[in-house]
Amino acid sequence: MKVASVLIPLPVSEAFDYEVPEGMDVARGDQVAVPLGPRLIRGVVSEARETTGSNRRLKAIDHVLDDPRLPERTVDFVEWAARWTLSAPGEMAAAALKGLRAPRPRPERRVRRVGERLPARPTGPRTAVLETLGERSMPGPDLARAAGVSSGVVKGLLDEGVLETIEIEAVAAFDAPDPEHAPAVLNPDQAAAATAIAAATGKGGFAPFLLDGVTGSGKTEAYLEAAARTLKVDPAAQILILLPEIALTQDLIARITARFGAAPAEWHSGVAPPRRRQVWEAVVAGRCNIVVGARSALFLPFVNLRLVVVDEEHDGSFKQDEGLVYHGRDLAVARARIEGATVVLASATPSLETLWNAHQGRYGWLKLAARHGTAVLPEVSLLDLRACPPDPQTWLSQPLREAIGETLLRGEQTLLFLNRRGYAPVVLCRACGHRLTAPDTDSWLVEHRYTGRLICHLTGFTMARPKHCPSCGAADSLVSVGPGVERVEEEVRQLFPEARTAVFSSDTAPDARSARALIQRMTDGEIDILVATQAAAKGHNFPRLTLVGVVDADLGLRGGDLRAAERTFQLLTQATGRAGRADRPGRAVLQTWTPEHPVLMALAAGDRDAFVAAELAEREAAFLPPWGRLAAIILSSENAVAVEKLARELAGSIPNAGRLEVYGPADAPLALVRGRRRKRLLVRADRDVDLQGFLRAWLARVKVPGSVRLTVDVDPYSF
Ligand code: ADP
Repeated sequence: MKVASVLIPLPVSEAFDYEVPEGMDVARGDQVAVPLGPRLIRGVVSEARETTGSNRRLKAIDHVLDDPRLPERTVDFVEWAARWTLSAPGEMAAAALKGLRAPRPRPERRVRRVGERLPARPTGPRTAVLETLGERSMPGPDLARAAGVSSGVVKGLLDEGVLETIEIEAVAAFDAPDPEHAPAVLNPDQAAAATAIAAATGKGGFAPFLLDGVTGSGKTEAYLEAAARTLKVDPAAQILILLPEIALTQDLIARITARFGAAPAEWHSGVAPPRRRQVWEAVVAGRCNIVVGARSALFLPFVNLRLVVVDEEHDGSFKQDEGLVYHGRDLAVARARIEGATVVLASATPSLETLWNAHQGRYGWLKLAARHGTAVLPEVSLLDLRACPPDPQTWLSQPLREAIGETLLRGEQTLLFLNRRGYAPVVLCRACGHRLTAPDTDSWLVEHRYTGRLICHLTGFTMARPKHCPSCGAADSLVSVGPGVERVEEEVRQLFPEARTAVFSSDTAPDARSARALIQRMTDGEIDILVATQAAAKGHNFPRLTLVGVVDADLGLRGGDLRAAERTFQLLTQATGRAGRADRPGRAVLQTWTPEHPVLMALAAGDRDAFVAAELAEREAAFLPPWGRLAAIILSSENAVAVEKLARELAGSIPNAGRLEVYGPADAPLALVRGRRRKRLLVRADRDVDLQGFLRAWLARVKVPGSVRLTVDVDPYSF
């Protein structure tokens, strides 16, 4: 009997076996419809084999689906990723089939001439239609428009049989990129980097690189050149460029289009499902060379993947926390290894893990030293707020106000950076001290004045700002505490009423289109002062921006998270790097109450190496990543007792293992969310311990009740 193991989208750790009916031919990667209970569901064949004399009564595969077979290495990747993250392989496989959720686009209806037939009554408009159309086929409305006639004229010709309607299968065309379309002239560092990358793609085999250069040093230009050379050698090569945020894609797509004379395919949640289906089918058919996308693009069925670029590789947005928990950068490296491809991790502020790999010689280290052309890095200075505290209920100190004023006078732009959405992060009752939170949730409600709502950024809960304190009932006792970007903009407008101001956050730019519009207004010089969260901190080039003011440089350093220093260093480097990108020198001013903090001192000195050395030493002392590895197990349930019980059971059944410790259970960083209690256990292991093997053995010892959700986070981003 022939049996196939099929990956189906269920939270189970194994593939399901099905009988392969007589006469059916299936192989690894085939998409099949299989019965599950009363339904048929889509699955992917992981393996097909002959068995002898099994008397298990297996259900049979219903039929092989008419969709393309997943390439062998895509299946390898899916299975590897599931093992690495301890996720269900069928759910990983489903991530690779996401593009197929939309139906095929409907065929396009067009009209064309029927042979040489002529209209019985030729008129001016009718002749115009036939002349416009010629030998081609066109959609009827387009034809009428092009011929300058009413649609009735086209319809009349159709009725008469002079024209006919045909249906054309909508196969999206992806123009082949032309590597010679608009070559760049590279500086020597860029040329060396592009040469090294292209040599690796040309040779084939897994080759990882760190492309390390300050913001504006021309990393993008360098990897695009490497992509061009890769395509010159192999015009069928496929290249994947991952970005941390959708807002950054348009800029890159425009650059790629200008460089190669053809637009790349785009892949992220903002792309409409029918379009995604077209991209998916083009990728698997090898009809599409360059894909620009978010982390989910890693699961596309590439057939000839030669180069993967992870731009802004340090960015925490590459980590997916919900559903399948994985780090896009780590999986990108794995995908490249499995495909035998080159992977380039690009950043001005690489993650400590990546820097460490480069230090150890595991990654080739390509450095771009200077900014391209005449642009120089901004001068960064710390503004000690103890010496010049802002007035009560204001957030900008006198020196920063003066700097903004001078910048305005010169007709240049200012970016004020504060990584906090809304008007005020906390609303507090002066009478009883109560802080407003969403129901059954630990995180505070954030006041948003533009929309007049209090919003929980964690759960999305919103309410109008109440007149009375919900806790003690006092009237008019609620005060807004601390600043968000909206409040800083309010202050700026009062100080500089003539300046044109705007706020850039995920509230004012919730989607790619509105982000693009804001970026365009900034680029066109229609905004003098932009108050922004991290949404505007990365990637964008604003030629007239010469002053960056960081409103609260201490903000990220206060959290209990051990990655706080690294993250703050990266974020502030990116934010300050926005200044002085073109021919005008820029400067950055960081307001701080703790100018002696090592992170801020390293920023002011522009000394990344010092920061990295200090941070690595601290991590080494605690055996934390990259010196050791971590994994978190998070339990959550509305039933607090069930969470407690499972947490205790887990703590009581830890397998024996050396060079590994388990901490907890303890309350998770957010212990109560939407009424769900959350507990966490943390595992720390030496690097050479089989962490996944340990976790699997451990989890196999407990039974997770239906009421509790258990999530495993291998290599957590926050710890
Ligand atoms: P990064 O990716 O390191 O931030 P970019 O590649 O975006 O840097 O380059 C910064 C700016 O310099 C861009 O406007 C880019 O067009 C320009 N640039 C970079 N390299 C070159 C080059 N070799 N020739 C011309 N312009 C370049």
